[in-house]
Amino acid sequence: MFTSLLVANRGEIACRIFRTARARGVRCIAVYSDADAKAKHVREADAAVHIGPAPAADSYLRGDKIIAAALESGAAAIHPGYGFLSENPDFAQAVIDAGLIWVGPKPASIRAMGLKDEAKRIAIAAGVPVLPGYQDADQSEKTLLKAAKAIGFPVLIKAVAGGGGRGIREVNTADEFSAQLQSAQREAQAAFGDARVLIEKLVQRPRHIEVQVFGDGYGGLVHLFERDCSLQRRRQKVIEEAPAPGMTDAVRAAMTEAALKVARAVNYENAGTVEFIVDGNGPLRPDGFWFMEMNTRLQVEHPVTESVTGVDLVDWQLRVAAGEKLPLTQDQITLTGHAVEARICAEDPSEGFRPSVGRLRTLSLPHYMFRIDSGFDGGDVISPFYDSLVAKFIVHQTIASPRQRQAVCTFAAAELGRLAFDGVTLNVAFLIQCLVHDDMLEGRVHTGLISDHLDALASGRRYEAEAAIFAALAQTNQPVCGPFAQADAWRLNGASRHEAHFERAGEAMVVALTRKGDGWTADVKGAAHTVVAVRQWGGRWIEADIGGQSRDAQVMRRSDGVGVLIEGELHEFLPAGAAREHADVAASDEIKAPLPGKIVGLSARAGDAVTKGDALVTLEAMKMEHQLKAPRDGVVAAVHVAIGAQVKEGGVLIALAPLS
Ligand code: ADP
Ligand code: ADP
Ligand code: MG
Repeated sequence: MFTSLLVANRGEIACRIFRTARARGVRCIAVYSDADAKAKHVREADAAVHIGPAPAADSYLRGDKIIAAALESGAAAIHPGYGFLSENPDFAQAVIDAGLIWVGPKPASIRAMGLKDEAKRIAIAAGVPVLPGYQDADQSEKTLLKAAKAIGFPVLIKAVAGGGGRGIREVNTADEFSAQLQSAQREAQAAFGDARVLIEKLVQRPRHIEVQVFGDGYGGLVHLFERDCSLQRRRQKVIEEAPAPGMTDAVRAAMTEAALKVARAVNYENAGTVEFIVDGNGPLRPDGFWFMEMNTRLQVEHPVTESVTGVDLVDWQLRVAAGEKLPLTQDQITLTGHAVEARICAEDPSEGFRPSVGRLRTLSLPHYMFRIDSGFDGGDVISPFYDSLVAKFIVHQTIASPRQRQAVCTFAAAELGRLAFDGVTLNVAFLIQCLVHDDMLEGRVHTGLISDHLDALASGRRYEAEAAIFAALAQTNQPVCGPFAQADAWRLNGASRHEAHFERAGEAMVVALTRKGDGWTADVKGAAHTVVAVRQWGGRWIEADIGGQSRDAQVMRRSDGVGVLIEGELHEFLPAGAAREHADVAASDEIKAPLPGKIVGLSARAGDAVTKGDALVTLEAMKMEHQLKAPRDGVVAAVHVAIGAQVKEGGVLIALAPLS
């Protein structure tokens, strides 16, 4: 084994790779941009090298600087993580040419699988099922449309160089084709510098199931079973699990064999994933899956495979890169129990998944019977420059029972509800709702599950009244503020009535608490709630029975009010009269940037009449596009930005005037 390793990445995956490397006695070297000088991955490394300004193009995508950093710091090997340069064959080759060990597949394998059209041709040649499609060189609209008609609508247009769910468009009729083609090409050119597309039959209500493969430099090649990644939003994974619900021996044999054929066709070495799109209507079938693409790297969701197989995939990556053989044969790799992973992201699902940036004041992840791979600690800053993944939460249970999968999902949801965070909104409430959705619990998963039930899953406003009551209890009662280790019931200090005044989402709010019998009646916005049996423990927890339901909340005090966290929903209450400027532009005359980013779309011109809800600006931040909409009917008075502009948080993009 080599003795030092540079990880050309950041966040949770850099920390994850360091963990295994350190356990092997390997010296860990981080690289970082200006935005990450104090990041967790830098703190955890033995040494760290600065590689440039915050934008990824100037730092984490600068292969030359990363190789120079490796040479300068005496690293023997480079692990690329995922994203960034991990699937860039030129970078892999440059690492090798610099005399360093590349922890990943051979550059030729990366290149062969790098473009989706070539990858599909390789799969076809290997005798692996692919969907009807067009993946040839002629990119004229006429040829592409003809191909789409021959395949039969609906079809997908996919960027051949695409990744991360971007550059994909669904087309349902020939009429839509031209507009969707242009849109896909535009996104593909901007995101990947390559506008080429392929056409593929759309599978309705499909599932996404992928197979983990691993090869060594001696012809050894194994699979480590499958992962189901069907819970997606906008073609990006949200929750992943292993094994796939409803998997049978026959389907698993067919799917893993197909994956191995693809891997063998490109002499695959190191960790890789072969992704299949699967017919999700009815039971899985050996003839009901088709090759989609191969990801030639470690996958975000690798921990579910590690959980059910007991294999440390990063350890295998390092050993294979160092020239060792695969540690286990196929027969020795077994699958035990069920594992699920949820991606905790800095975003607000109730606000259209708007990214949330800033200082994560609290992040407390009680490690107990589950695994958390985090790129941040409480106090760290989440910047707008990189993707929104904060941590991954992984639950694995081995207790055999017919309801094992359901138990894992409900346990994961319950434990996520105990996570504490503050300062930045995380998608935790949304993840909990996804995990306990009936279709999820029953294993009726498909890639449209989240979008079909988006309003219910993403509302984030289930506990509005309860949160206000907890905030009022915290404000009125002394013991809640003090050191409160006691777990006994408490009273409102004899007072028979208390009014708590707050500011909530820019509006004044009063919660009146009145003594009644053993408890109180709480009046919130004209609705009465009975509140009994209040307990407090552990510093910030309060439990109360509200309207007959037992609820736990975490109340986080700040200099400027309180945050109340109930099952992953963060509700903020400011002191009355705080009248802090609210980020919400609902009633405003201005459309401001909710976070720093780049303007990538602009459909408003000065003088245009707009209707409330019209999408006027598209802002790209955290690798996602965000549509900013007209807050009301009006006329565009001024447009202050142009396409390509970098804007600061709070920067005024568009001014509206009333309709005359
Ligand atoms: P996985 O299949 O491992 O879940 P994803 O498609 O979610 O992979 O992407 C893995 C990581 O790579 C994420 O951080 C994602 O944002 C990033 N990523 C995906 N595609 C690209 C790309 N083209 N350029 C940069 N980063 C990307
Ligand atoms: P990326 O490189 O962006 O990950 P993929 O080809 O893996 O692109 O597709 C991403 C997602 O898009 C899949 O996980 C699936 O949800 C959806 N998808 C891809 N191909 C199809 C298809 N033919 N029919 C239906 N959905 C598809
Ligand atoms: Mg994919």
